[in-house]
Amino acid sequence: TGGQKMKKLSDATLLPQSGIRRMFDLAKNKENTISFVLGEPDFDTPKNVIKAAQKALEEGQTHYTDNSGILPLRQAIARETKKYDHVAYNPENEILVCTGGMEALYLSMATLLDPGDEVLISDPCYANYYGQISMNHGVPVPVPVYEENGFNFTYEGLSKAVTDKTKAILLNSPCNPTGAVAGREVMEDIARVALEHDLYVVYDAVYKHLLYEGEYVNIASLDGMKNRTIYIDSCSKTYAMTGWRIGYLAGPREIVSLMPKLQENVPSCVTTFAQYGAVEAISNGQESIKQMHDQYAERRKALLECIENIEKISCRPPKGAFYAFINIKKTGLGSEEFAERLLNQQGVVVAPGSAFGEQGEGYIRISYATSVETIRKGMERIQKFVESL
Ligand code: PLP
Repeated sequence: TGGQKMKKLSDATLLPQSGIRRMFDLAKNKENTISFVLGEPDFDTPKNVIKAAQKALEEGQTHYTDNSGILPLRQAIARETKKYDHVAYNPENEILVCTGGMEALYLSMATLLDPGDEVLISDPCYANYYGQISMNHGVPVPVPVYEENGFNFTYEGLSKAVTDKTKAILLNSPCNPTGAVAGREVMEDIARVALEHDLYVVYDAVYKHLLYEGEYVNIASLDGMKNRTIYIDSCSKTYAMTGWRIGYLAGPREIVSLMPKLQENVPSCVTTFAQYGAVEAISNGQESIKQMHDQYAERRKALLECIENIEKISCRPPKGAFYAFINIKKTGLGSEEFAERLLNQQGVVVAPGSAFGEQGEGYIRISYATSVETIRKGMERIQKFVESL
């Protein structure tokens, strides 16, 4: 600033650095490390999707689209959601294509929240929820969830956290970081709280196709819930398309028809040729989903076998996504200390559970979106580390 007096920048800039980013930084200059922190598929985007985007580019699909996205993509989303989620959305005014699930979450908060409104989130949860809520002047209210309940919300836990400022419940299932999946009963309990207290539900289902146990239930399909639910999905995890930045949200017309004007003021629209790739992914992606799912299932099995063989650490089988939330309480180390010492002594990078909230203390998160060979090698090192304690 050259010594000039300058006015203060916004409080949004005070967001803390994420606990995962810190591990990346610590690992940056180390050689021969094995990383279990990446929150994205290690697969490449399916060839048919790449071809569809290339074709769109060659055909001149390089202009702005509608704020809400190209109609064929909204129609493909509507078909998929009807078939898989059993919820019918009108592609004309109940679906908005966004820049990743990330922007769908952000716009949901921008649409629902006035300053000071509270949003119930699980603790632990996807750490970016804190930023998305607070950047929209809302207040994130962590509701502890426990391993004994499969890291799921309970009716009592949620009800206790409701105040007259509560506006919404932000629900993520399958969950990052715990792999928890809210089955029908849990969904019914959450819906009951929402209906009793007149709350909206923002349902982040970006891992919905990565399910290994249990039933997939979209909370919007329950009685009375479509009206008050914003459902969010993304091509990132399902079709290995993280860099394409294609996500979407769907909800009742009364809410979603207000959102294109917000979208207009942020990215205006999502990258046009990427949207054409997404049409192909969603319309013809069944085979790719199955192939990747089978590999994740195999990796999950290998990882759980390795954990089983290590005394002092344990993990309830995660039902979905590609994360294992491992209990390290018996080692006597805090989760950050565990992660840092593991990195320094064995060159394995994991995310400390505390990066996802207070209740994450005593856990580490491992992403198994990597080969079985890497999983076995990394877990051998973790075993050596834990045995040396
Ligand atoms: N929600 C959860 C729970 C996630 O884990 C992620 C990515 O890691 C996202 C949303 C956002 O993904 P994207 O913006 O790539 O769709």
